[in-house]
Amino acid sequence: ANTVTAPDAEVVLAQPRGFCAGVDRAIEIVEQALKRFGAPIYVRHEIVHNAYVVNDLRQKGAVFVQELDEVPTGGTVIFSAHGVSRAVREAAEARGLRVFDATCPLVTKVHVEVSKMRAQDCEIVMIGHKGHPEVEGTMGQADGGMLLVESVADVARLQVANPERLAYVTQTTLSVDETREIVAALKARFPAISEPKKQDICYATQNRQDAVKFMAPQVDAVIVVGSPNSSNSNRLREVAERLGVPAYLADAPEQIRDEWIAGKRRIGVTAGASAPEVLAQSIVTELQRRGVQRVRALDGIEENMSFPLPKGLTASN
Ligand code: SF4
Repeated sequence: ANTVTAPDAEVVLAQPRGFCAGVDRAIEIVEQALKRFGAPIYVRHEIVHNAYVVNDLRQKGAVFVQELDEVPTGGTVIFSAHGVSRAVREAAEARGLRVFDATCPLVTKVHVEVSKMRAQDCEIVMIGHKGHPEVEGTMGQADGGMLLVESVADVARLQVANPERLAYVTQTTLSVDETREIVAALKARFPAISEPKKQDICYATQNRQDAVKFMAPQVDAVIVVGSPNSSNSNRLREVAERLGVPAYLADAPEQIRDEWIAGKRRIGVTAGASAPEVLAQSIVTELQRRGVQRVRALDGIEENMSFPLPKGLTASN
């Protein structure tokens, strides 16, 4: 009686979806720190951009703060997966805080690129979203000499010191297609610009966007499990939309609106890199409650990436 979807509706699950190696590691760092040192463990910024994960860790004793001055002297603080500026790192050191760094190694890779290029006197264009903590962290690897662009239009407005000494880096969770367009505009305007040896957009972002591109033509609507402040989740929604499929972000089962699924036969479900599989499953269960009859998982890449925990939190010490 409660059926909202078409009578023979099915859920189609994207592969891969959900947690990446960097998110897995970041959450494990908070859990291990809680186990070893006990609550409270302070975490600067949301460890990953997912409300469910943050609430779960909060219940276990993590205290989320925006800035370091909210951490009491002698406290233990964890830097989020998005990374921090040098200034934040130095401030923590100056205060003698015990620090565990959950910066994803693939973000650190970009930080290292920035430091290298700055040492070679290059000005650096960062492609990314203003205000995102990863952008603040990466831009904060240098004292100046960094320029942010968010769009092709920004490239036209760019004023650089010396077009012969220019490099670019990107945020790790951007739209692959949009970034390609921005990079093309940069190269057209500054043919001598140096680029990263391997693209900065990470494997997880690339794979999840590819999976949505594969899924979108087979479905009538897409639900991306992810929080509104999750960059990579928003990009997944846009990828589906660009392919002409209505797509929505949902953080919890009760957020699914009837009009998203009314009369739909095939509903694609994917999850951002910070969204846990239990949440994706609870969304599938809710869709079943509203009329979905079958669940089918698509084929896709099997990921096997994993990153080691920092010293002091590994099982052996
Ligand atoms: Fe690392 Fe990519 Fe995951 Fe971000 S999305 S934490 S860069 S693997």
